[in-house]
Amino acid sequence: MDHVETVIIGAGVIGLAIAARLSQTRSVLVIDQMGQFGEHTSSRNSEVIHAGLYYDEHSLKARLCVRGKALLYAHCARFHVPVKQLGKILFARTASEHDKLAAIEAQAKRNGVCDLTPLSQTQVGDMAPGLSASAALFSPSTGIIDSHQFMLSLVHQLEQAGGNLVCHTRFDSAEHTASGFHIALDCDGEAFALSCDTLINAGGLFAQDNAKRINGLGERHIPQSHLCRGQYFSYQGHHPFSNLIYPMPEQHGLGIHATLDMAGQLRFGPDTHFIDRLDYQLDPDAKARFVEAIQSYWPALDPERLKPDYAGIRPKLSRDKGQDFVIEGHQHHQVNGLINLFGIESPGLTASLAIAEYVEAQL
Ligand SMILES: Cc1cc2nc3c(=O)[nH]c(=O)nc-3n(C[C@H](O)[C@H](O)[C@H](O)COP(=O)(O)OP(=O)(O)OC[C@H]3O[C@@H](n4cnc5c(N)ncnc54)[C@H](O)[C@@H]3O)c2cc1C
Repeated sequence: MDHVETVIIGAGVIGLAIAARLSQTRSVLVIDQMGQFGEHTSSRNSEVIHAGLYYDEHSLKARLCVRGKALLYAHCARFHVPVKQLGKILFARTASEHDKLAAIEAQAKRNGVCDLTPLSQTQVGDMAPGLSASAALFSPSTGIIDSHQFMLSLVHQLEQAGGNLVCHTRFDSAEHTASGFHIALDCDGEAFALSCDTLINAGGLFAQDNAKRINGLGERHIPQSHLCRGQYFSYQGHHPFSNLIYPMPEQHGLGIHATLDMAGQLRFGPDTHFIDRLDYQLDPDAKARFVEAIQSYWPALDPERLKPDYAGIRPKLSRDKGQDFVIEGHQHHQVNGLINLFGIESPGLTASLAIAEYVEAQL
Protein backbone atom coordinates (compact mmCIF):
# COMPACT_ATOMS: atom_id res chain seq x y z
CA MET A 1 0.00 0.00 0.00
CA ASP A 2 1.35 3.46 -0.90
CA HIS A 3 2.07 5.76 2.02
CA VAL A 4 1.88 9.58 2.21
CA GLU A 5 2.47 11.55 5.39
CA THR A 6 -0.56 13.82 4.93
CA VAL A 7 -3.75 13.35 2.92
CA ILE A 8 -6.04 16.34 2.51
CA ILE A 9 -9.62 15.79 1.36
CA GLY A 10 -10.75 18.76 -0.72
CA ALA A 11 -8.98 21.10 -3.11
CA GLY A 12 -10.98 24.19 -2.29
CA VAL A 13 -9.14 27.24 -1.03
CA ILE A 14 -8.95 25.77 2.49
CA GLY A 15 -7.52 22.38 1.51
CA LEU A 16 -5.07 24.05 -0.87
CA ALA A 17 -3.92 26.64 1.68
CA ILE A 18 -3.28 23.89 4.21
CA ALA A 19 -1.53 21.79 1.54
CA ALA A 20 0.72 24.64 0.44
CA ARG A 21 1.80 25.21 4.04
CA LEU A 22 2.22 21.62 5.21
CA SER A 23 4.06 20.58 2.04
CA GLN A 24 7.00 22.76 3.14
CA THR A 25 7.77 20.22 5.88
CA ARG A 26 6.15 16.89 4.89
CA SER A 27 4.78 14.89 1.97
CA VAL A 28 1.25 15.95 1.04
CA LEU A 29 -1.44 14.58 -1.27
CA VAL A 30 -4.60 16.62 -1.90
CA ILE A 31 -7.54 14.87 -3.51
CA ASP A 32 -10.69 16.24 -5.04
CA GLN A 33 -13.68 14.45 -6.51
CA MET A 34 -14.16 17.12 -9.15
CA GLY A 35 -12.24 17.54 -12.40
CA GLN A 36 -10.39 20.63 -11.14
CA PHE A 37 -9.56 22.42 -7.89
CA GLY A 38 -12.02 24.90 -6.39
CA GLU A 39 -15.17 23.90 -8.27
CA HIS A 40 -17.52 24.27 -5.30
CA THR A 41 -17.70 27.15 -2.79
CA SER A 42 -14.23 28.48 -3.57
CA SER A 43 -15.33 29.56 -7.04
CA ARG A 44 -18.83 30.64 -5.99
CA ASN A 45 -18.26 33.51 -3.61
CA SER A 46 -17.83 37.31 -3.62
CA GLU A 47 -14.00 37.25 -3.75
CA VAL A 48 -13.87 39.90 -1.05
CA ILE A 49 -10.94 40.19 1.35
CA HIS A 50 -12.86 41.00 4.50
CA ALA A 51 -11.48 43.38 7.09
CA GLY A 52 -12.81 41.39 10.08
CA LEU A 53 -15.44 43.82 11.38
CA TYR A 54 -18.44 41.78 12.42
CA TYR A 55 -17.36 38.68 14.29
CA ASP A 56 -17.20 38.22 18.05
CA GLU A 57 -13.66 39.00 19.22
CA HIS A 58 -13.30 35.59 20.88
CA SER A 59 -14.23 33.72 17.72
CA LEU A 60 -11.96 31.89 15.32
CA LYS A 61 -13.66 33.90 12.55
CA ALA A 62 -12.43 37.20 14.01
CA ARG A 63 -8.90 36.02 14.78
CA LEU A 64 -8.35 34.11 11.57
CA CYS A 65 -9.95 36.77 9.36
CA VAL A 66 -7.77 39.60 10.67
CA ARG A 67 -4.62 37.45 10.59
CA GLY A 68 -5.63 35.90 7.24
CA LYS A 69 -6.17 39.30 5.65
CA ALA A 70 -2.59 40.35 6.43
CA LEU A 71 -1.18 37.02 5.24
CA LEU A 72 -3.30 37.17 2.08
CA TYR A 73 -2.19 40.66 1.00
CA ALA A 74 1.44 39.63 1.58
CA HIS A 75 0.95 36.35 -0.34
CA CYS A 76 -0.65 38.20 -3.28
CA ALA A 77 2.28 40.61 -3.47
CA ARG A 78 4.79 37.74 -3.31
CA PHE A 79 3.08 35.48 -5.87
CA HIS A 80 1.65 38.21 -8.13
CA VAL A 81 -1.97 37.27 -7.48
CA PRO A 82 -4.31 40.04 -8.73
CA VAL A 83 -5.78 41.95 -5.81
CA LYS A 84 -7.31 45.42 -5.36
CA GLN A 85 -7.64 47.10 -2.00
CA LEU A 86 -10.76 49.07 -2.99
CA GLY A 87 -12.11 49.71 0.49
CA LYS A 88 -15.72 49.34 1.55
CA ILE A 89 -18.49 51.75 2.47
CA LEU A 90 -20.60 50.34 5.26
CA PHE A 91 -23.74 52.39 5.68
CA ALA A 92 -26.92 52.86 7.70
CA ARG A 93 -29.97 53.56 5.55
CA THR A 94 -31.90 55.41 8.24
CA ALA A 95 -31.35 56.77 11.74
CA SER A 96 -32.87 53.55 13.11
CA GLU A 97 -29.71 51.73 11.99
CA HIS A 98 -27.19 54.14 13.57
CA ASP A 99 -26.86 52.00 16.70
CA LYS A 100 -26.03 48.96 14.56
CA LEU A 101 -23.36 50.91 12.69
CA ALA A 102 -21.83 52.12 15.98
CA ALA A 103 -21.90 48.56 17.33
CA ILE A 104 -19.99 47.29 14.27
CA GLU A 105 -17.38 50.02 14.70
CA ALA A 106 -16.91 49.04 18.35
CA GLN A 107 -16.75 45.33 17.45
CA ALA A 108 -14.17 46.04 14.75
CA LYS A 109 -11.96 47.83 17.31
CA ARG A 110 -12.22 44.86 19.68
CA ASN A 111 -11.11 42.67 16.75
CA GLY A 112 -8.05 44.86 16.23
CA VAL A 113 -9.45 46.64 13.14
CA CYS A 114 -8.87 50.24 14.11
CA ASP A 115 -8.80 51.93 10.70
CA LEU A 116 -12.54 52.54 10.14
CA THR A 117 -13.31 56.20 9.46
CA PRO A 118 -16.69 57.95 9.49
CA LEU A 119 -17.84 59.45 6.20
CA SER A 120 -19.78 62.73 6.01
CA GLN A 121 -22.81 63.04 3.70
CA THR A 122 -20.65 65.02 1.27
CA GLN A 123 -17.97 62.31 1.24
CA VAL A 124 -20.59 59.59 0.64
CA GLY A 125 -22.05 61.70 -2.19
CA ASP A 126 -18.59 62.09 -3.78
CA MET A 127 -17.48 58.48 -3.34
CA ALA A 128 -20.77 56.74 -4.15
CA PRO A 129 -23.06 59.10 -6.06
CA GLY A 130 -26.73 58.14 -5.64
CA LEU A 131 -26.21 56.03 -2.50
CA SER A 132 -28.96 56.77 -0.03
CA ALA A 133 -27.25 56.62 3.36
CA SER A 134 -27.86 58.51 6.58
CA ALA A 135 -24.48 57.56 8.12
CA ALA A 136 -21.48 55.59 6.86
CA LEU A 137 -18.06 54.19 7.73
CA PHE A 138 -15.17 53.51 5.37
CA SER A 139 -13.10 50.34 5.76
CA PRO A 140 -9.82 50.90 3.87
CA SER A 141 -8.42 47.38 4.34
CA THR A 142 -11.29 45.60 2.55
CA GLY A 143 -10.39 44.45 -0.96
CA ILE A 144 -11.07 42.00 -3.77
CA ILE A 145 -8.96 39.12 -5.03
CA ASP A 146 -8.84 36.87 -8.08
CA SER A 147 -9.63 33.67 -6.20
CA HIS A 148 -8.79 31.38 -9.13
CA GLN A 149 -5.29 32.86 -9.42
CA PHE A 150 -4.93 32.64 -5.66
CA MET A 151 -5.74 28.92 -5.71
CA LEU A 152 -3.41 28.44 -8.65
CA SER A 153 -0.58 30.06 -6.65
CA LEU A 154 -1.26 27.60 -3.81
CA VAL A 155 -1.14 24.65 -6.22
CA HIS A 156 2.23 25.94 -7.50
CA GLN A 157 3.54 26.26 -3.96
CA LEU A 158 2.38 22.71 -3.20
CA GLU A 159 3.92 21.27 -6.35
CA GLN A 160 7.17 23.21 -5.96
CA ALA A 161 7.55 21.56 -2.56
CA GLY A 162 7.00 18.10 -4.07
CA GLY A 163 3.33 17.70 -3.05
CA ASN A 164 0.56 16.46 -5.33
CA LEU A 165 -2.99 17.42 -6.24
CA VAL A 166 -5.06 14.63 -7.76
CA CYS A 167 -8.53 15.38 -9.11
CA HIS A 168 -11.32 12.97 -10.15
CA THR A 169 -10.55 11.17 -6.89
CA ARG A 170 -13.15 10.72 -4.18
CA PHE A 171 -12.48 9.94 -0.54
CA ASP A 172 -14.65 6.94 0.34
CA SER A 173 -13.67 5.95 3.88
CA ALA A 174 -10.87 5.81 6.43
CA GLU A 175 -9.96 3.27 9.05
CA HIS A 176 -8.03 4.60 12.05
CA THR A 177 -5.04 2.35 12.79
CA ALA A 178 -2.31 2.36 15.46
CA SER A 179 0.01 4.27 13.15
CA GLY A 180 -2.41 6.50 11.20
CA PHE A 181 -5.12 5.75 8.64
CA HIS A 182 -5.93 3.30 5.88
CA ILE A 183 -7.85 5.21 3.27
CA ALA A 184 -10.16 3.98 0.52
CA LEU A 185 -10.37 6.18 -2.56
CA ASP A 186 -12.35 6.05 -5.77
CA CYS A 187 -10.14 7.24 -8.65
CA ASP A 188 -12.41 7.78 -11.61
CA GLY A 189 -14.32 4.57 -10.89
CA GLU A 190 -11.35 2.52 -9.71
CA ALA A 191 -10.81 1.60 -6.06
CA PHE A 192 -7.46 2.62 -4.58
CA ALA A 193 -6.03 2.16 -1.08
CA LEU A 194 -3.50 4.37 0.67
CA SER A 195 -2.08 4.82 4.15
CA CYS A 196 -1.20 8.13 5.82
CA ASP A 197 -0.17 9.54 9.21
CA THR A 198 -2.36 12.63 9.08
CA LEU A 199 -5.80 13.06 7.53
CA ILE A 200 -7.32 16.49 7.01
CA ASN A 201 -10.98 16.75 6.11
CA ALA A 202 -11.40 20.07 4.28
CA GLY A 203 -14.43 18.85 2.34
CA GLY A 204 -16.49 22.05 2.62
CA LEU A 205 -20.15 21.20 1.98
CA PHE A 206 -19.28 17.49 2.15
CA ALA A 207 -17.15 17.61 5.32
CA GLN A 208 -19.84 16.02 7.50
CA ASP A 209 -20.44 13.17 4.98
CA ASN A 210 -16.71 12.51 4.92
CA ALA A 211 -16.46 12.57 8.72
CA LYS A 212 -19.24 9.96 8.99
CA ARG A 213 -17.03 7.63 6.95
CA ILE A 214 -14.02 7.92 9.25
CA ASN A 215 -14.07 4.85 11.41
CA GLY A 216 -13.30 5.70 15.04
CA LEU A 217 -14.72 9.24 15.04
CA GLY A 218 -17.64 9.58 17.46
CA GLU A 219 -20.90 10.94 16.02
CA ARG A 220 -21.03 13.71 18.61
CA HIS A 221 -17.98 15.24 16.93
CA ILE A 222 -19.86 15.72 13.66
CA PRO A 223 -22.06 18.84 13.69
CA GLN A 224 -25.29 19.06 11.69
CA SER A 225 -25.00 20.45 8.20
CA HIS A 226 -27.40 23.06 6.79
CA LEU A 227 -27.07 24.35 3.25
CA CYS A 228 -27.75 28.06 2.76
CA ARG A 229 -27.73 29.21 -0.85
CA GLY A 230 -26.78 32.75 -1.79
CA GLN A 231 -27.33 33.97 -5.31
CA TYR A 232 -25.99 36.92 -7.25
CA PHE A 233 -27.24 39.29 -9.92
CA SER A 234 -24.74 41.10 -12.10
CA TYR A 235 -25.37 44.69 -13.20
CA GLN A 236 -24.72 45.28 -16.89
CA GLY A 237 -23.24 48.58 -18.02
CA HIS A 238 -22.14 51.76 -16.24
CA HIS A 239 -22.53 52.33 -12.52
CA PRO A 240 -21.27 54.99 -10.12
CA PHE A 241 -19.38 52.78 -7.62
CA SER A 242 -15.67 52.28 -7.14
CA ASN A 243 -15.80 50.87 -3.60
CA LEU A 244 -17.68 47.90 -2.17
CA ILE A 245 -21.08 48.96 -0.81
CA TYR A 246 -22.54 47.18 2.24
CA PRO A 247 -25.80 47.79 4.11
CA MET A 248 -26.19 46.54 7.68
CA PRO A 249 -25.71 42.76 8.04
CA GLU A 250 -28.65 40.36 8.47
CA GLN A 251 -28.98 37.19 10.54
CA HIS A 252 -27.39 34.71 8.10
CA GLY A 253 -25.46 36.97 5.73
CA LEU A 254 -24.20 40.47 5.11
CA GLY A 255 -27.38 41.76 3.41
CA ILE A 256 -27.70 42.18 -0.37
CA HIS A 257 -24.58 44.24 -1.00
CA ALA A 258 -22.66 45.48 -4.03
CA THR A 259 -19.23 44.13 -4.90
CA LEU A 260 -16.99 44.62 -7.89
CA ASP A 261 -14.93 42.02 -9.72
CA MET A 262 -11.39 42.57 -10.97
CA ALA A 263 -12.79 43.96 -14.26
CA GLY A 264 -14.95 46.52 -12.43
CA GLN A 265 -18.23 44.72 -13.12
CA LEU A 266 -20.81 45.38 -10.40
CA ARG A 267 -22.76 42.51 -8.88
CA PHE A 268 -25.30 42.28 -6.07
CA GLY A 269 -25.79 39.54 -3.51
CA PRO A 270 -25.63 37.02 -2.07
CA ASP A 271 -29.08 36.60 -0.53
CA THR A 272 -29.80 33.78 1.94
CA HIS A 273 -32.07 30.83 1.32
CA PHE A 274 -31.89 27.47 3.16
CA ILE A 275 -32.18 24.47 0.84
CA ASP A 276 -32.54 20.73 1.43
CA ARG A 277 -30.07 19.41 -1.13
CA LEU A 278 -27.04 20.69 -2.99
CA ASP A 279 -28.53 22.72 -5.83
CA TYR A 280 -26.87 25.72 -7.48
CA GLN A 281 -29.97 26.46 -9.57
CA LEU A 282 -30.94 30.14 -9.50
CA ASP A 283 -34.34 31.14 -8.13
CA PRO A 284 -36.21 32.95 -10.93
CA ASP A 285 -38.43 34.73 -8.39
CA ALA A 286 -35.50 36.35 -6.59
CA LYS A 287 -35.23 39.38 -8.87
CA ALA A 288 -38.16 41.31 -7.33
CA ARG A 289 -36.60 40.90 -3.87
CA PHE A 290 -33.21 42.05 -5.14
CA VAL A 291 -34.72 45.12 -6.83
CA GLU A 292 -36.56 46.09 -3.65
CA ALA A 293 -33.49 45.60 -1.43
CA ILE A 294 -31.12 47.48 -3.77
CA GLN A 295 -33.51 50.36 -4.44
CA SER A 296 -33.79 50.91 -0.68
CA TYR A 297 -30.21 52.27 -0.84
CA TRP A 298 -29.67 52.94 -4.54
CA PRO A 299 -32.95 54.32 -5.94
CA ALA A 300 -31.41 54.91 -9.39
CA LEU A 301 -31.02 51.15 -10.03
CA ASP A 302 -32.29 50.20 -13.49
CA PRO A 303 -33.92 46.77 -12.95
CA GLU A 304 -33.58 45.93 -16.65
CA ARG A 305 -29.80 45.80 -16.27
CA LEU A 306 -29.92 43.30 -13.40
CA LYS A 307 -29.18 39.80 -14.75
CA PRO A 308 -29.12 36.45 -12.86
CA ASP A 309 -25.48 35.41 -12.40
CA TYR A 310 -24.49 32.45 -10.17
CA ALA A 311 -25.07 30.97 -6.72
CA GLY A 312 -22.86 29.65 -3.92
CA ILE A 313 -23.83 27.57 -0.91
CA ARG A 314 -22.80 28.30 2.67
CA PRO A 315 -21.95 25.28 4.85
CA LYS A 316 -23.99 26.40 7.89
CA LEU A 317 -24.02 24.46 11.13
CA SER A 318 -27.33 25.89 12.35
CA ARG A 319 -30.45 27.48 10.87
CA ASP A 320 -31.16 29.82 13.72
CA LYS A 321 -27.92 30.69 15.49
CA GLY A 322 -24.72 32.45 14.51
CA GLN A 323 -21.79 30.08 14.17
CA ASP A 324 -18.03 30.01 14.31
CA PHE A 325 -15.59 27.95 12.25
CA VAL A 326 -15.15 24.48 13.75
CA ILE A 327 -11.60 23.16 13.37
CA GLU A 328 -11.06 20.10 15.52
CA GLY A 329 -8.02 17.95 16.11
CA HIS A 330 -7.33 15.05 18.46
CA GLN A 331 -7.70 17.32 21.54
CA HIS A 332 -11.45 17.36 20.73
CA HIS A 333 -12.18 13.93 19.30
CA GLN A 334 -9.20 11.80 20.46
CA VAL A 335 -8.47 10.49 16.95
CA ASN A 336 -4.76 11.08 16.56
CA GLY A 337 -3.71 12.65 13.28
CA LEU A 338 -7.20 13.75 12.21
CA ILE A 339 -8.32 17.35 11.67
CA ASN A 340 -11.90 18.12 10.64
CA LEU A 341 -12.96 21.53 9.34
CA PHE A 342 -16.69 22.26 9.51
CA GLY A 343 -18.76 25.36 8.74
CA ILE A 344 -16.04 27.20 6.83
CA GLU A 345 -18.34 29.83 5.38
CA SER A 346 -17.40 33.51 4.94
CA PRO A 347 -14.78 34.81 5.71
CA GLY A 348 -13.11 31.49 4.81
CA LEU A 349 -11.42 32.80 1.67
CA THR A 350 -9.90 35.73 3.59
CA ALA A 351 -8.95 33.51 6.52
CA SER A 352 -7.57 30.60 4.45
CA LEU A 353 -3.85 31.21 5.04
CA ALA A 354 -4.44 31.78 8.76
CA ILE A 355 -6.56 28.61 8.90
CA ALA A 356 -3.60 26.75 7.39
CA GLU A 357 -1.32 28.22 10.08
CA TYR A 358 -3.85 27.21 12.77
CA VAL A 359 -4.13 23.65 11.43
CA GLU A 360 -0.35 23.29 11.40
CA ALA A 361 -0.22 24.42 15.02
CA GLN A 362 -2.93 21.86 15.95
CA LEU A 363 -0.80 19.11 14.45
C1 LIG B 1 -22.13 32.90 -1.38
C2 LIG B 1 -20.81 32.93 -0.69
C3 LIG B 1 -20.04 34.09 -0.68
C4 LIG B 1 -18.81 34.12 -0.02
N1 LIG B 1 -18.05 35.25 -0.09
C5 LIG B 1 -16.85 35.29 0.54
C6 LIG B 1 -16.04 36.45 0.47
O1 LIG B 1 -16.35 37.40 -0.23
N2 LIG B 1 -14.88 36.47 1.19
C7 LIG B 1 -14.49 35.42 1.97
O2 LIG B 1 -13.47 35.52 2.63
N3 LIG B 1 -15.22 34.27 2.00
C8 LIG B 1 -16.38 34.19 1.29
N4 LIG B 1 -17.11 33.05 1.31
C9 LIG B 1 -16.57 31.88 2.02
C10 LIG B 1 -15.56 31.12 1.18
O3 LIG B 1 -15.95 31.04 -0.18
C11 LIG B 1 -15.44 29.72 1.76
O4 LIG B 1 -15.14 29.82 3.13
C12 LIG B 1 -14.34 28.89 1.12
O5 LIG B 1 -14.43 28.93 -0.28
C13 LIG B 1 -14.47 27.46 1.61
O6 LIG B 1 -13.47 26.70 0.97
P1 LIG B 1 -13.40 25.15 1.23
O7 LIG B 1 -12.13 24.72 0.65
O8 LIG B 1 -13.70 24.86 2.67
O9 LIG B 1 -14.67 24.55 0.46
P2 LIG B 1 -14.85 24.18 -1.08
O10 LIG B 1 -14.37 25.24 -1.98
O11 LIG B 1 -16.28 23.76 -1.25
O12 LIG B 1 -13.90 22.93 -1.28
C14 LIG B 1 -14.16 21.67 -0.74
C15 LIG B 1 -13.70 20.66 -1.76
O13 LIG B 1 -13.72 19.38 -1.18
C16 LIG B 1 -14.05 18.46 -2.19
N5 LIG B 1 -14.51 17.24 -1.53
C17 LIG B 1 -15.42 17.15 -0.55
N6 LIG B 1 -15.62 15.87 -0.21
C18 LIG B 1 -14.80 15.14 -0.98
C19 LIG B 1 -14.57 13.74 -1.09
N7 LIG B 1 -15.23 12.84 -0.37
N8 LIG B 1 -13.63 13.32 -1.96
C20 LIG B 1 -12.97 14.21 -2.74
N9 LIG B 1 -13.18 15.54 -2.70
C21 LIG B 1 -14.08 15.99 -1.83
C22 LIG B 1 -15.10 19.18 -2.99
O14 LIG B 1 -15.24 18.65 -4.29
C23 LIG B 1 -14.60 20.61 -2.97
O15 LIG B 1 -13.84 20.91 -4.12
C24 LIG B 1 -18.34 32.97 0.65
C25 LIG B 1 -19.11 31.81 0.64
C26 LIG B 1 -20.33 31.76 -0.03
C27 LIG B 1 -21.13 30.51 -0.06
